[in-house]
Amino acid sequence: MDIAYDHISSYVFVADYGGQISVLKLESQGFQFITTLKGHQSSVRSLAYDQESRVLFSGGYDQIIVVWDIGSQKGTAYELTGHKAKLTDLCFSPQVKRLLSSSERGNVGIWDLDIQREETAEWGGGSTCEKCGIPFFWNVKDMWTRKVIGVRQHHCRKCGRAVCAKCSELESTYPPMGFEIPVRMCQDCHATVTTDDRTPLATFLEFKSDVTDMDLDEERWIWITVGSDKIIKVCVVGSHCSVVDLAVSSNLFDDTVW
Ligand SMILES: [Zn+2]
Ligand SMILES: [Zn+2]
Repeated sequence: MDIAYDHISSYVFVADYGGQISVLKLESQGFQFITTLKGHQSSVRSLAYDQESRVLFSGGYDQIIVVWDIGSQKGTAYELTGHKAKLTDLCFSPQVKRLLSSSERGNVGIWDLDIQREETAEWGGGSTCEKCGIPFFWNVKDMWTRKVIGVRQHHCRKCGRAVCAKCSELESTYPPMGFEIPVRMCQDCHATVTTDDRTPLATFLEFKSDVTDMDLDEERWIWITVGSDKIIKVCVVGSHCSVVDLAVSSNLFDDTVW
């Protein structure tokens, strides 16, 4: 659960354990409900906000970050997929347009947000594979008339089509859509991804322990993290958030830091 605030529009964003983000407008006499943002499959743990571009970032237990374009008011969003554990914290640097993200497994992502990414594809909801036409297992009518056994439905993460496992057995990274780790793709989409397309747009650092919270001091370019190993790590970062050195690492707490 977390909260973020847009001081131009007076919008307050409230993330909850149900996976939704409520958008409220603060008024002199209380608040007005605006909308609910639904993009996560499980709890939203952390929010960060880019006031200049009016973009909201949300990190969830579903291991993804959703980037919401609030300024456009069109409800457009895209996904950043690179962590393999629950997201714990997000930190945005307005100066260099980088997003730092931490996870329970101790890896920290540094995402280049100067680059415009493609919007997440809308998922198809057909009852047969959109490529080979085989019915999905709940499509009893088709299974009965065609005398075939239904299969599980999957989705190509690039085009969003509903496809069977056989038609989407290939995987690839695709950073222009935020996929820094391999994701399921249909054969058609997989064939269009070039080597240039696979150039990473984020870097990942491995910490020995999980990172539960972090902060970035943009004046001194110092980045501080804490984790359940009870150690505060102070990192000196370069002007583009590339980590230069682990300056101080001190164990100051008797109890776990949360
Ligand atoms: Zn198929
Ligand atoms: Zn596809």
